[in-house]
Amino acid sequence: NRRVILKEYVEGYPREEHMELLPGAEVPLRLAGDEPPGSVLVRNLYLSCDPYMRPKMSRPLRESYTAAFVPGAVITGYGVARVLDSSDPRLAPGDLVWGITGWEDYSVVRPPTTALLAKISHHGGGGGGVPLSYYTGILGMPGLTAYVGFHEICAPKAGEAVFVSAASGAVGQLVGQFARLAGCRVVGSAGTAEKVELLRARFGFHDAFNYKEEPDLAAALRRRFPEGIDIYFENVGGAMLDAVLLNMRVRGRIAVCGLISQYNLKDGEKDAVRNLSAVVGKRLRLQGFIEPDHKHLYPKYEAWVLPYIRDGTLAYVEDVAEGLESAPGALIGLFHGRNVGKQLVRVADD
Ligand code: NDP
Repeated sequence: NRRVILKEYVEGYPREEHMELLPGAEVPLRLAGDEPPGSVLVRNLYLSCDPYMRPKMSRPLRESYTAAFVPGAVITGYGVARVLDSSDPRLAPGDLVWGITGWEDYSVVRPPTTALLAKISHHGGGGGGVPLSYYTGILGMPGLTAYVGFHEICAPKAGEAVFVSAASGAVGQLVGQFARLAGCRVVGSAGTAEKVELLRARFGFHDAFNYKEEPDLAAALRRRFPEGIDIYFENVGGAMLDAVLLNMRVRGRIAVCGLISQYNLKDGEKDAVRNLSAVVGKRLRLQGFIEPDHKHLYPKYEAWVLPYIRDGTLAYVEDVAEGLESAPGALIGLFHGRNVGKQLVRVADD
């Protein structure tokens, strides 16, 4: 059972040396007798690389909504897996699940984490199934994040002007398409020409631009939103947030989903927000949110999104790294914009 551990706490940008793939020969087929009741043994199939994993690699200095990883211990995160053995009455061998698992070939998921393992009922060929890997993205945590952040936090109305940053990624590509479905005009930013093309051609953004080629971000936004932005779906923070604040309309809403541009900066290096006074003058609502608070909305979201996946209304782009050994590099790539679409790792065939 090979596994990927965090070797040491990370300062600055994560590098491959911060993680290590440890070999392991034995393959567990049954839960050991001393595992606590409610434990589940799984074969991991797909692992998800998510930006929130970076803050968990830092030495814990202050309260956070998610506990830090422990050096020497296996890295944990969202994934899709097959149940091999279970003492959780909800799950039986052969079941497919998504939820929190380990970066290893096989994992024992113990209570209370087992409560986060959800049984997958729509998958595979036939019966209107969808690819299993989608449960790391559009049908998993990033999908619910996009749905909650856009529909619940932003409360969009048809005709409104929406801006999405990191727009080609796991969350951004969905927010853009949800905005289009809601009758909004939506513009996205991304970091390469290839991604900008995806936004326009595959995801149906009305306009898109490469933020790395627009040194004056405020002017770039002004050109695309001459009457201002009603809704900003914030994924990056830093200079982009400052430029957006200057371009918001009165009573605009900003859903703060994440601030990826800040995750690798040390305290003291983080960007100050210079244009916060716009929040007062323009009576803006700026609201942070985290997906775990909204798990109860998952069944509603899944029922809403599945028909759009099946009939092709929604496009969905994944970036699949092959093999557990590629997981550290794939995770690091998120912070250099190397992923095109949702980054995941295929550990074993479904
Ligand atoms: P993505 O698939 O979008 O991957 C990350 C992308 O961010 C990169 O590809 C890169 O794209 C962009 N990026 C990286 N560094 C920077 C930077 N310094 N400045 C600007 N852009 C950068 O990730 P997700 O869709 O999974 O996550 C998007 C955001 O949503 C993150 O902030 C994440 O933390 C947050 N999130 C929050 C959740 C919540 O519950 N609140 C849940 C899930 C995600 P590019 O080439 O365009 O630069």
